Amino acid sequence: MTSQNRQIAMVFDLNKCIGCQTCSVACKVLWTRNEGTDYQWWCTVNTVPGQGSPKGWEAMGGGYKDDTLTLGKLPERSEFGGGWDFNYDEVFYGKGKGAGGGQVPLRVKGEQPTWGPNWDEDQGGGKYPNSYYYYLPRLCNHCTRPACVEACPSKAMYKRPEDGIVLRDEAKCEGSQDCAKACPYKKIFFNHERGVSQHCIMCLPRIEDGVAPACARQCPGRAVFVGFLDDTSGPIHKLVNEWKVAMPLHPEYGTKPNMYYVPPIGPKPINADGSIDEDTNRIPDALLEEQFGPDVHQALATLQGEMAKTREGGKSALMDILIAYQWKELFSEFTVDPVDVEQEGQ
Ligand code: SF4
Ligand code: SF4
Repeated sequence: MTSQNRQIAMVFDLNKCIGCQTCSVACKVLWTRNEGTDYQWWCTVNTVPGQGSPKGWEAMGGGYKDDTLTLGKLPERSEFGGGWDFNYDEVFYGKGKGAGGGQVPLRVKGEQPTWGPNWDEDQGGGKYPNSYYYYLPRLCNHCTRPACVEACPSKAMYKRPEDGIVLRDEAKCEGSQDCAKACPYKKIFFNHERGVSQHCIMCLPRIEDGVAPACARQCPGRAVFVGFLDDTSGPIHKLVNEWKVAMPLHPEYGTKPNMYYVPPIGPKPINADGSIDEDTNRIPDALLEEQFGPDVHQALATLQGEMAKTREGGKSALMDILIAYQWKELFSEFTVDPVDVEQEGQ
């Protein structure tokens, strides 16, 4: 593998993510509208705790164990949710047997699906009144040690040295799907029409024009940061390396992922007498540690300490970064407006 010069990364602030799925849809309409991609959602926002997408992905294996590449389960199309076939003709043109001549709401035709990209959304865990959940946007991590690249027998997958984006040469892909077995995040999809695997390309053409990826640019929660890890003036470096409040997901998978998460703080539990339990957290510490590793506790302590400072009327440089008063503060050098790029190209 070529040694890389720089690494692009993203940070998702899970305290700002509202689970609106705008990122998922922004990606869907940009990249997966063609043949064979109907079931592909390169960006999905899972509810935690939950089975996520593909269903039960955290138990499917892959990544590195004892520094050795392992091939895990190949997720089935039905575990992603298949491709749904809606009754558009009936709704938009009044065709078919639907009662009401197209006035019925959209429903799925044919075989009823048993799973989907956000099937268990908002179910969460815990018992009322101490129920809890948080949203977890997930896409390819453009890992520093990408198991998919090492596993590919056709040398179709590679990591660009200039920015660390993991790509594939589809002309070389022979459809073995070893990449999908090796990826522990299960973020590779097989195009059954074309016989090749596909995955998030970090909106490569946009990145090359200085435009932030669509998932980040469209996020109404200003929850997503983009930039190079070594850009000491940018938010990524500050959140990951200086403040150490942004954590990789499942670092134990061994692929050194480059999507980072500011962990969710969550509300305090309510006692039986209605008082607030200030000493514990409603989101179990063990769950957060399982997802983000043991450093998550220090990250939460830092976040809570800085929040307390601002509540007392003080200033916090960390809170200023996380709030991002101006949207351009989210994206380092990737602040070009996509409309300007389109107009230049005309
Ligand atoms: S998340 Fe999976 S597909 Fe993406 S670079 Fe890492 S191992 Fe490869
Ligand atoms: S668009 Fe932003 S707020 Fe909405 S689900 Fe995605 S990351 Fe969360």
